[in-house]
Amino acid sequence: MAGSDICIFCKIAAGEIPATLLHEDPHLVAFQDIHPQAPTHLLVVPRKHIPSLNALTPADAELVGRLMVEGARLAAEQNLAETGYRLVVNCGEWAGQTVDHLHLHVLGGRRLGWPPG
Ligand code: 5GP
Ligand code: ZN
Repeated sequence: MAGSDICIFCKIAAGEIPATLLHEDPHLVAFQDIHPQAPTHLLVVPRKHIPSLNALTPADAELVGRLMVEGARLAAEQNLAETGYRLVVNCGEWAGQTVDHLHLHVLGGRRLGWPPG
């Protein structure tokens, strides 16, 4: 798909750029964020290049479901289930999206403020 040849998360998913992987399957990869904002900060990324939530269609419903299920599974694996954690998708400039490939942040290991800044 257009953009995937220059997209950093497509390259991580393809193994062309190194990352600390915590999960991979035919649909998703998960890896540590390079600039962690909490003791646990992981990213769950579909292998399919979807630029943002704005580009989702009903055909992506199963994939987005997989994204959430994997985010929750990883949070439990990181022992965050009891203390709590946050799954976040930033969409667009005002939300702070900086990588134009859909990704789910898994944040935990400290108390998280609300509302977010
Ligand atoms: P966004 O700001 O788009 O919601 O999140 C993008 C995230 O990707 C940021 O938290 C940023 O630290 C992370 N990130 C950007 N480039 C890389 C990279 O090359 N490797 C890894 N592991 N994380 C990255
Ligand atoms: Zn991509």
